[in-house]
Amino acid sequence: MSKIARRKFIQLSAVAVAGALASPGRRAYAQDLPHLAEDDPMATAMKYTHDASTVDPASRVNPAAEQTCDNCALIQGGDGDEWRPCQIFPGKLVNANGWCSVWAPKV
Ligand code: SF4
Repeated sequence: MSKIARRKFIQLSAVAVAGALASPGRRAYAQDLPHLAEDDPMATAMKYTHDASTVDPASRVNPAAEQTCDNCALIQGGDGDEWRPCQIFPGKLVNANGWCSVWAPKV
């Protein structure tokens, strides 16, 4: 390995290590996001609630019986986390026990 290539390799390795130490994972970053408020205009428009059990199943367009953010195809983040990112509400976290009218089954 040439002297320049070795120097470049060391520099890139240092950057990679620094990056790994500075951000131990996307999950840690996601948990820093604010919780979606139920009175957020977008949440209201989508009928979002933190507690899916408060929604009358008959009022749902999608007939699937049990619908929570936890079993929605649009949820992101780690299984088991109480608050998780959602593709519909970028930059906010939704409750795993929540629900909104965009709910879609996982395939
Ligand atoms: Fe929950 Fe799915 Fe609605 Fe997102 S799209 S708030 S995960 S039900």
